[in-house]
Amino acid sequence: MAPLSPVTMDTPLRYLKGVGERRAAQFERLGVGTVGALVRHIPRAYEDWSRLTPLVNAPFGEACCVKATALEAPAEHRVRKGMTLYRFRAGDGSAVMQVTLFNNKYAAARIRAGEEYLFFGPVGGNFTRREMASPLIEPAEGGERIRPIYRQTEGLSTRVIEGCVARALEALGTALDDDPLPAELRLRHSLCTRRFALENIHFPTGSEALAVARKRLVFEELLVLQLGLLRLKGRARSASAAVMAHDYTAEFYSLLPFSPTGAQRRAIADCVGDLRGASPMSRLIQGDVGSGKTAVAAGVAFTAIKNGWQAALMAPTEILAEQHARSLSALLAPGDVHVGLLTGSQSAGEKREVLERLADGRTDLIVGTHALLSEGVRFARLGLVITDEQHRFGVGQRAGLAAKGINPHLLVMSATPIPRTLALIIYGDLDVSVLDELPPGRQPVETYAVRSSKRERAYNYVKKHIDEGRQAYIVCPLVEEGEGETDLASAAEYAQKLAGGPLKGYSLGLLHGRMKPAEKERTMAAFARNEISVLVSTTVIEVGVDVPNAVIMVIENAERFGLAQLHQLRGRVGRGQHKSTCILISDAQNEEAVRRLRVMCVTNDGFQIADEDLKLRGPGDFFGSRQHGLPALKIADLNGDMPLLLEAQTEARALIASDPELEQAEHLPLAEEVRRLFDQVTEQGLN
Ligand code: ADP
Ligand code: MG
Repeated sequence: MAPLSPVTMDTPLRYLKGVGERRAAQFERLGVGTVGALVRHIPRAYEDWSRLTPLVNAPFGEACCVKATALEAPAEHRVRKGMTLYRFRAGDGSAVMQVTLFNNKYAAARIRAGEEYLFFGPVGGNFTRREMASPLIEPAEGGERIRPIYRQTEGLSTRVIEGCVARALEALGTALDDDPLPAELRLRHSLCTRRFALENIHFPTGSEALAVARKRLVFEELLVLQLGLLRLKGRARSASAAVMAHDYTAEFYSLLPFSPTGAQRRAIADCVGDLRGASPMSRLIQGDVGSGKTAVAAGVAFTAIKNGWQAALMAPTEILAEQHARSLSALLAPGDVHVGLLTGSQSAGEKREVLERLADGRTDLIVGTHALLSEGVRFARLGLVITDEQHRFGVGQRAGLAAKGINPHLLVMSATPIPRTLALIIYGDLDVSVLDELPPGRQPVETYAVRSSKRERAYNYVKKHIDEGRQAYIVCPLVEEGEGETDLASAAEYAQKLAGGPLKGYSLGLLHGRMKPAEKERTMAAFARNEISVLVSTTVIEVGVDVPNAVIMVIENAERFGLAQLHQLRGRVGRGQHKSTCILISDAQNEEAVRRLRVMCVTNDGFQIADEDLKLRGPGDFFGSRQHGLPALKIADLNGDMPLLLEAQTEARALIASDPELEQAEHLPLAEEVRRLFDQVTEQGLN
């Protein structure tokens, strides 16, 4: 039943006239659930039906739009069973062409001799005999315009989407005039109204109108994103934070088995300064792989705990959560800190016990996966939330865990170096401390790219180091996504082959994503104790795993990995005193892959690698929500729109400075847009 209330941006799509349950479900697959989402479903390209080409000038093989009169009614030719052609001639006075439609009785029936049509598509044939095969055809009247092309999905053609968008714009009516951007702001930045922008982004009256529409939508998108991030940062600036008066860093250093690097000292001091401040901390620790972020987290947690608060550390994988729980417990237990672990795979009994200890305050530091976000997790006095490898978490998840305390302090740790220009937006909501120093004695990981014909030599190299007491990782070939079970089979098979052949007699372990968590944990623990010499693994070891005695990493099919991923994988070695080596095996010829491997061989610097990555992949891809847990940008392109980004950011800062909660009447619609954008992230992030 359609509601009687007028259509708004939030009206579910199935209530839009002409969109039934089935269509609505199809749109859902495109991530479009409301009327608002539909009108913001931006065309990926346009067909220019407004620029007409005289037939005689039509370039062969290139799509163009021709206005011509049908010289006859289509004639039907049955060529064989299941294949019927409809043919007719059409001319525009400059030339005549033959039009052929395949099995399209419906389109053919609409053609009347003597009527004028627009034909869109490539012209084929030659100068004496022009033809168009299956062109798009529209009546000439009213057809001369720029038409949108949408990303399609099964059952939803771009034309169907176009029709629905047109209906949505019409149904919205005066609701389109509710503009989230105040008129004064639009004027200052030369931006058109929302109505003009939405109408013209779908149905531009010309290329200039399209550019104007696009600019406005890009600005709005970036402004809303920036506002959301700034509000996270400034969250409850007025409310009191978990109060922490004392600095226990010196006591913490006496527990550490090593002396902290200067960068670690500075980062801990930054954080403790924040903890002792009046408003909650929102800080990012950015440090390349192996720079010692865990010790920083431990130090900050120690001070929070000694001030009487609980701390939570969220890690993206169970392997990592367990590793952290193990090492933090070993480190902090002598300091009288009780560390707990919560993961999705614990038994109901175990979980209950953990949750009880947490709720009554016996546990000081809880380490866990996103299981920490679940409903039943309650803290006695949560004062500090830490997320490790934050690029794996959504902004929404960060906020979700924070909501379990009353404005707790927030610390996020990331090993993903971000080119400086992008850091501006991506971490717009955080203060940043950089760990720009590796622990002493670290040597760069020597890296070689070799062909598969050298595989034997690579194995021999592995054996030589195992014989000296060291350990190795072998990352087995990636299987194409979607092959499901074969992934597991191939990892197991590969390990089997090694065990029976080149690495016979050595103790091998196997680790892959489909193993039961308990099994994974057992294997990792055995590897950490050096009971396993070679860990054959899929990319599950990509983040955070820390076994300093492992000094060799062999990566099969290295060309299949992106630069950031290779850097993370390689970061598993070179974590101790011993010289480490990474061998990238690849027979790839393609230029981009070769360049990626070369970058890995010449530098260990995460920032440099990130810059190269950005050059190779382009910022759009880099910025996707999977990388950084931010809402994906739908319109803005960070290559071309950087100036607008800076403009939007300045504006966002000014807005928040004048109205921190966006509660003035003219800012309410903007606040609403921010809520919409970040709700969507929370939903995506939690799946
Ligand atoms: P990441 O920044 O990649 O998370 P980790 O915190 O796992 O790095 O630390 C990497 C390794 O370096 C660990 O084995 C850790 O014990 C060790 N480490 C950290 N800080 C120091 C230090 N100041 N001196 C010596 N070793 C350190
Ligand atoms: Mg780490």
